[in-house]
Amino acid sequence: MSNPDDYTVGWICAVKPEYVAAQEFLDEEHDPPEGLQLDNNHYTLGKMGKHNVVITILPKGEYGTAAAAMVAEGMRRSFPNIRVGLMVGIAGGAPSKKHDIRLGDIVVSIPENGSAGVFQYDFGKTIQNKSFQNTRFLNQPPTSLREAVNGLDTQYTRKGHKINEDIDSILKKAPRLRKGYQRPDLESDQLYQSQIAHRDENEGLPCAMKCGDDPSCLVSRPPRTEDEDNPAIHYGLIASANQVMKDALIRDRLVAEKDVLCFEMEAAGMMNHFPCLVIRGICDYSDSHKNKGWQGYAAMTAAAYAKDLLRHIRPEKVNQEATIGSVSGESVSSASAEPYPTKPSAITFGDQNYGSQVGVNNAPMNMTFGR
Ligand SMILES: [Zn+2]
Repeated sequence: MSNPDDYTVGWICAVKPEYVAAQEFLDEEHDPPEGLQLDNNHYTLGKMGKHNVVITILPKGEYGTAAAAMVAEGMRRSFPNIRVGLMVGIAGGAPSKKHDIRLGDIVVSIPENGSAGVFQYDFGKTIQNKSFQNTRFLNQPPTSLREAVNGLDTQYTRKGHKINEDIDSILKKAPRLRKGYQRPDLESDQLYQSQIAHRDENEGLPCAMKCGDDPSCLVSRPPRTEDEDNPAIHYGLIASANQVMKDALIRDRLVAEKDVLCFEMEAAGMMNHFPCLVIRGICDYSDSHKNKGWQGYAAMTAAAYAKDLLRHIRPEKVNQEATIGSVSGESVSSASAEPYPTKPSAITFGDQNYGSQVGVNNAPMNMTFGR
């Protein structure tokens, strides 16, 4: 049995492909923890580089910021020596003229102007004809992680990364994962023009066959050259909320107003209980065409980047950070209450009902659970 006090890095996943990828990147796996009571999380312990890492996953079928906050609380209590947190997994990308985001790319939550690097867009004010106003302050990721991101960015700029090589060497050792986790055919990375909605009929057929693959429906993007990182790493703001983003027009609006790079469903529940860096592999484009084809590979690229980051941090640096239990701000009971509305509000960020509510919007909008 392993001693929970020995672990300093906490790594949280939301869905199974992320948990599989995280475990595969461990250099060694340890025995289960001893003596954990009143904690329903499933843990995997091991070593990554020089760090003892504890990995967990949200309960099956649970999504969203409140579930993430509960899992983080359990980990924080059971592993009192955790000092840095990583939220590693998949997300829907928000490609734009400014950010050429493609499937398999990696987005890292990096704060600007003192923000958290995470923007909770279903917790704030929506006032007609005005931009999204965030009313909640989220903590920043730990210093040692932000420093390591800078160091790794410089290294990648000079020499490129070895993310694909790292994934290939894992898949060589675990051939049964190839089908679900290797890089899909590049031709399946199609970005539709925002106004082209997915056609629901003929389920099972790929988008190219029912939504069209005419160049006029698609955003044309030249193949990446040998001198460009592929997957590319993007740094900036991650949009987080309790529902799946599958609307290209709302996506584009959040890009225009907030310059967000991707959409996910857990980070906003984490930052104030479990200050962490959010690392997301892009598995779709947050539009109505989203499907699961790239989830496995995107989970692998995110985990590969997270491991590379840990290689860049000396254990002494981690030990200088305060324990997560001593820096977290809010109690989980208040967090779990957040996403639930006292009365339902029919907010849609579409054209028809364009942010027409004045006041605090902490209610779910058109909620779709699941991915
Ligand atoms: Zn489609």
